[in-house]
Amino acid sequence: MSSKAVFLDRDGVINVDINYAHTPEQITFIDGIFDFCSSAKAMGYKLIVITNQAGIGRGFYTEETFHALMDWMFAQFAENNVPLDAYYFCPHHPEYGVGEYKQDCNCRKPKPGMIIQAAGQWDIDLAQSILIGDKQSDIAAAIAAGMPNYILFEGQFPILESH
Ligand SMILES: [Mg+2]
Repeated sequence: MSSKAVFLDRDGVINVDINYAHTPEQITFIDGIFDFCSSAKAMGYKLIVITNQAGIGRGFYTEETFHALMDWMFAQFAENNVPLDAYYFCPHHPEYGVGEYKQDCNCRKPKPGMIIQAAGQWDIDLAQSILIGDKQSDIAAAIAAGMPNYILFEGQFPILESH
């Protein structure tokens, strides 16, 4: 049986977006994120982070630094009894990427690549899933992936309804 997921943008949804955060000291969790994820999990949603990380491609920080931060972040969620399931990231930038990172890829939102990849790897039914992001490019990625359910986050997490 396929599963359903809440796709979470990271910067601006999970943590306050300060542009190119890459260390734990730079992370302030957004109020309500743990409770929201906890309710989603209780309703059977997987929790999958999808995040553009052009800071890698631009040479501001490395993939290794990014993964270390995600490990730390996953540990914080686990400590709050709401383990995240996975994360997907795009390190590219079509103009400002350095070397191999300069790519007009299919993973950078508003493209749907990360959502499609996650759906394939986790057998996720996108029709039953929800995306929450703080930018129009997040919403555009959801639409491009064919998702009917998406929320532009403006500071209040939604109350999820069971279907
Ligand atoms: Mg964002």
